[in-house]
Parts: sequence; C-alpha cells; structure tokens
Amino acid sequence: QNQISGPKIRMRTVDLAEITPEDRLQLMRRPVLKSDEMISKVKPIVDDVRIRGDAALLELTAKFDKVQLKSTVILPPFASETMEIGDEVRAAIDQAYSNIYKFHAAQLDKEPLVVETMPGVVCTRFARPIGRVGLYVPGGTAILPSTALMLGIPAQVAGCKEIVLATPPRADGSISPEVMYVAHRVGASTILKAGGAQAVAAMAYGTTTVPKVDKIFGPGNQWVTAAKMLVQNDTDALVSIDMPAGPSEVLVMADYSANPAFVAADLLSQAEHGADSQVVLVAINLSAEKLVEIEREVDVQANALTRVAIVRESIPKSIIVKTYSTEEAITFSNEYAPEHLILHLEDASERVAEIENAGSVFVGAFTPESCGDYASGTNHTLPTNGYARQFSGVNTLSFQKHITSQQISSEGLKRLGPVVATLADCEGLDAHANAVRIRLSAN
Ligand code: NAD
Repeated sequence: QNQISGPKIRMRTVDLAEITPEDRLQLMRRPVLKSDEMISKVKPIVDDVRIRGDAALLELTAKFDKVQLKSTVILPPFASETMEIGDEVRAAIDQAYSNIYKFHAAQLDKEPLVVETMPGVVCTRFARPIGRVGLYVPGGTAILPSTALMLGIPAQVAGCKEIVLATPPRADGSISPEVMYVAHRVGASTILKAGGAQAVAAMAYGTTTVPKVDKIFGPGNQWVTAAKMLVQNDTDALVSIDMPAGPSEVLVMADYSANPAFVAADLLSQAEHGADSQVVLVAINLSAEKLVEIEREVDVQANALTRVAIVRESIPKSIIVKTYSTEEAITFSNEYAPEHLILHLEDASERVAEIENAGSVFVGAFTPESCGDYASGTNHTLPTNGYARQFSGVNTLSFQKHITSQQISSEGLKRLGPVVATLADCEGLDAHANAVRIRLSAN
C-alpha cells in the first residue's frame, strides 16, 4: 500500500576508466558543512547559555522545541512509568545491550603497560576513565534508543562517573520511554531535556542544574555539530569532542556473485537517512544485465518505503562507479574512506586485509549494515566525510585516557643521568641538568 508511482528512482553511473583525475577527485568529495557560517549562527545561543545558564536553556527550549519546561533535568532513579515499553521492544533493546556491552567490555584497557627501557628505568602507561561525559542523542520527534546505547554502553564500561544524556524533549515535555529505559540501563546520572546548540553549551560550561562535562559525544544536525566545534575551541570550556560529524555514508562493493536485491536493499537503507546521505555502489565487472537488475531493484524497493520522499532526493545524487577488477575497486574505496563499507564479494573475508580506510566493514552477503547500526555489537558512531583516514569510530577507548608514569632507581639514574645531562647541556637548560647532577653527586 506504500506503492507510490512516479519517475524512476535511479542512480547516476560513471565509468572509472573513462573519467579524468579531476573528476575522480570530485567523486571523493562530500557536501561540506559551511562551518564558519554555522558557527556564527550558534555563537549567540552558546553564549546565552554560558552566561545565563538554566534560564537561557528554558527559554531556548521554548523557542526551538516549542516546550515550556519547569526543569531541564531528570535525575535517577527514573520513575518506572517513564520507561514503560512493550515486551518485544524491551527484549530487542536488552539483546542489543548485551551484544554491544560484550564487544565494548572486551575493548577495555585494564592492565597497565610496563616496560623497563634500561635496567632500573621503568616506564608505565595506564588507563583511567574520563570523569564526566556528555552524550547527545538527536531528535525531538525521532526515537533513537540505538544512539543512546552506542554512546552510553562504552561510557558505562569505561567507568565514567558522570554520564549526562542530552536529548530534545517531545511536544509534551517528556523523553521517549525507549530512551529513558536505555538511560537507566547505561547508568546515566543526569538526563538533560534539551537539544541543539543549547544542549551542547549546557554540557560544555555547566549550569546550576546541568553538570559540566569533559568530553561531548554524539551525532546531530548542523546546530549540534557547529556548537561542538565551537566549544572544543574555547579554552574556558576545556572540553573535547568525539569527532567531526557529517551526513551518513555507505560504499557498497559488488562483484558477479552479489545478489541484486540485497545490494539494492543496502543502498536504500543508507539513502533513507536523509536527502544528504552519501550512497556509492562500486560495481566490479558487472554485466549490463546485472546492473539493470540492481537498478530495477532500487526503484521497486524504494517505491515501497515509507520514506520514499527522502529516497527520491538522495538516490539521484548517488553514484554507481564501474570498475574492472576487485583491486581497482578497493583502491577507490580506500581513497574514498567511507563511513560504512559493505563487501558483496565472492572472497569478501579475504579482502578485508586490503582495506586501509573505513569506519566499519560489513563482510559478505548476510551482513547488512543495519545489524551494526542496532545490535551486533560494533558501534554505529563512525567517522564520515573521509575522516576514516585518521579517526576511529567511537569505542571504549574514546571514554578512557592514558597516563604515563616512570620510576627510576639510584642505579638506573647512574646509567640514564649522564645521557639526560648531556642533552640538557646541549639545549642550554642548566636547571634540567642540575636536577640530574645533584642526585648523581649525592650517591
Ligand atoms: P537534533 O537533535 O540533531 O536537533 C534538534 C535540535 O536542533 C532542536 O532541539 C533545536 O534546538 C535545534 N534547532 C533546529 N532548528 C534550529 C534553528 N533554526 N535554530 C536553532 N536551533 C535549531 O535532531 P534532528 O534535527 O532531527 O537531526 C538529527 C540528525 O542526527 C540528522 O542530521 C541525522 O542524520 C543525525 N543522526 C545521525 C545518527 C548517527 O548515528 N550517525 C543517528 C541518528 C541521527
């Protein structure tokens, strides 16, 4: 009954063998966030919350979310009636929680690293949780318990003491029971009922009711992203962020063995995110018939989706890149550095060794991205925009930091001291050299 007739929903095709190096570079580009413009727009909002705290937060929530709240925070224990959800959804959240917890607990850095670099010179590195973290869960109308799970579980596993979960309130001023339930399961210490730049500012600077945090995580629209960029550059806020966020992306690689219906379904599951979703199919030596079959599947499946209007905008901006070997396809993908990479390849598992840049890889015909988005165990907060070249997705270590320490015995100092004194002399730092020599002459 969702069938909506209209012009064919189809992707643009380019042949990698026929394009210029400039065109190839153009294919790698994503729409850029006009950060200067957005930052100047969010600055008055951020400043207002920094200066006037809770009063500004309440006014901005009334203005942007159309809700007049009495208080912006909910503190635990959360009332059970605010977390009432159906048995089926609860069981699904519980299973997802268990898988994500298992995978993130295995990542925890528990044991100190101890290395004796010279006899008597012992260097150590050990991890500690980031004390206070802020988790942004987007959407006033959308229900996003999955994002709350993906950010809350690693924070809980790492042992962060303060976990502030911010999300815009619904029209009646409440938070969806699914998100409330996840907040309860991950041990959130404060729920902040605010969205956008004002929520980010409240967590960065703190207000009378909202605790100040040390690091802010989470996706969001351009108001959220710009506010995160602004506060991380303010030394008064002394706050860091997880990573720069942009529109979600997928690159699907398909060879002759790929099932056209599966490939189309994977492309569409990304395309339905938003009009700015980035969707790329890298076709490896596919016959004309197979390509037509994939395109037909995209059109038929798209027209049956409830979000067909969004797909109508995103699919025509998406591209099919024709390549002639798996090596060529992987080189292209490594250059593109996609957030999500799906391998519909006959030898998919062997090919993972060749992947250099990607946020998360989905290996083989029976591994849809949706599983990683919700419940297999991996995190869905991943680098977009080509940042997979240098950023990892959110993981347990994102919620820990490392401290190094050293202990040197008197014998150790006899060996190392002269080296240090020579280097300090070389740099003209007498006090540094003295700190060594004073000890060496004392024993
Ligand atoms: P959001 O929570 O990011 O933003 C809502 C807030 O934006 C509102 O509370 C309001 O304060 C602010 N805002 C909106 N218009 C404003 C204006 N004109 N001036 C000032 N502030 C304004 O929710 P959203 O808008 O629904 O966006 C959700 C975003 O999160 C999308 O971009 C989506 O792609 C992304 N997302 C990403 C993931 C992921 O894991 N990658 C998951 C879910 C959603």
